[in-house]
Amino acid sequence: MADDNTPHAPPNRRRTDYGGLIAIVIAMLLGALVGLVYGRQMWIASGGPAAEVVKLQATRAQKAEFADNLAASDPAAAERLRGHIPQIDKRLAEVRQIQQLAEQQGVSNFAAFTWKFADFCGDLFIKALTLLVIPLVVTSMVCGITSLGDIRRVGRTGLWTIVYYMATTAIAVVIGITLVQVIQPGQGTDDTFAFVSENVLAKQGTTPIDTLLNVFRGQPGEPNSGMIPSNLIAAAAETNVLALIVFALLFGAALTTIGEAGRPVVTFFNGANDAIMKLVHWVIWLAPVGIFGLVAANIAKQGGGEAFGDELAKLGKYVATVSVGLLLHSTVLCLVLWLLAGRRPLSYLLGVARALLTAMTTSSSSATLPVTIECVERNNGVSKEAAGFVLPLGATVNMDGTALYEAVAVVFIAQSLDISLAFDALLIIFLTATLAAIGAAGIPQAGLVTMVIVLTAVGLPLTGIGLILAIDWFLDRLRTTVNVFGDTVGAAVIDRYADT
Ligand code: ASP
Repeated sequence: MADDNTPHAPPNRRRTDYGGLIAIVIAMLLGALVGLVYGRQMWIASGGPAAEVVKLQATRAQKAEFADNLAASDPAAAERLRGHIPQIDKRLAEVRQIQQLAEQQGVSNFAAFTWKFADFCGDLFIKALTLLVIPLVVTSMVCGITSLGDIRRVGRTGLWTIVYYMATTAIAVVIGITLVQVIQPGQGTDDTFAFVSENVLAKQGTTPIDTLLNVFRGQPGEPNSGMIPSNLIAAAAETNVLALIVFALLFGAALTTIGEAGRPVVTFFNGANDAIMKLVHWVIWLAPVGIFGLVAANIAKQGGGEAFGDELAKLGKYVATVSVGLLLHSTVLCLVLWLLAGRRPLSYLLGVARALLTAMTTSSSSATLPVTIECVERNNGVSKEAAGFVLPLGATVNMDGTALYEAVAVVFIAQSLDISLAFDALLIIFLTATLAAIGAAGIPQAGLVTMVIVLTAVGLPLTGIGLILAIDWFLDRLRTTVNVFGDTVGAAVIDRYADT
């Protein structure tokens, strides 16, 4: 970051490893091909039919329960839900037949091997990345803060970072709400197989204020969740990244105030951070194999290309609305890069492409964090101070893609249920979607759970989430990519302006 009073010119340094990037793209395409073409066999080999039977049975039971609950207050809705049961039974019979056939004939060795290989490689890659998150967050945050040197600069940088997060998240929500109102994807949605999962139901009754308070204090009954856990080590063991960020931030700030006595500690953290980044670099070498595994295994888990095609046919307009919204927001972020950070968007994008592809395949901003830091610092020359500060925090609280997605999803649910939303309801969605995105952890499908807050705030039934559950695994990938892109753009902006 600049030490004078003008934003410094962004460095032109870019050392993108195109070979590695091409290898990742090829691995991803290959994984998608295997998953789409051979996914059904892999699904059978993975025990998918048995799991689907369990889910269909749960869906059936849930429909009956919801219908009973509605019988007195809304008999027509109850009747409609009961009308879904024969179709669920039909699907249950089909899946049971597939299951029986697989048990009688056995699954091919090749399918079993491909499933095991893809699942193993994907799991190993995610675990290796997740393993690095805790030490990386602590060391990079402490290094970032201490290299700012002075506690007033820490405060200023923090303030600008929060302004950036809030402004871009708000823009994302406005794009989402506008698009979903214009396209109206929710008209005539088929909700026959809609199912609401346990973790969503458990969030019932959470208010937006509770959510915000819980970000600070943690979930009731979970002393090591939230920003201020009662035991830091236990919080780390539960991968409570936010708690570590806050602690590292305060610890780093304290180090800057104790002068000479803090020097050896700062040197230690700088060395530790360099070593962790070296490990990240090594793990990135595994990325092509890991990404191949993640993509193939995930598509297979959903039943392969045919099942994915069916979901797309049902929810195509909704998927298109979210995708176009995310694309538009990415364009806005490119403009921010160009106008505010003085960067060439294409070259910056190429520099962070590995991180974006990792986000797309892992669906987790937190698991992607090591790769994000590596790309932003090494390929795009963003200072360690800015990257160390903005990226770990961004991976947990700055989620433009999630905010946009939550806004689109909630309006979509209202449209599907034929409920029209007035301007004040849209305003509530705007505010709560922003909060819900802040409250979502950087892990797969966290946004789906925090969406309950938005639904509750505008009085929509939680059952609406069942409509979009089946395709969420796919949209999660897209929104996580935009979440990570938003963080990387933030690092470039803060790098240029924060200390001026
Ligand atoms: N998977 C997202 C992330 O890690 C959060 C979400 O579910 O929207 O950024």
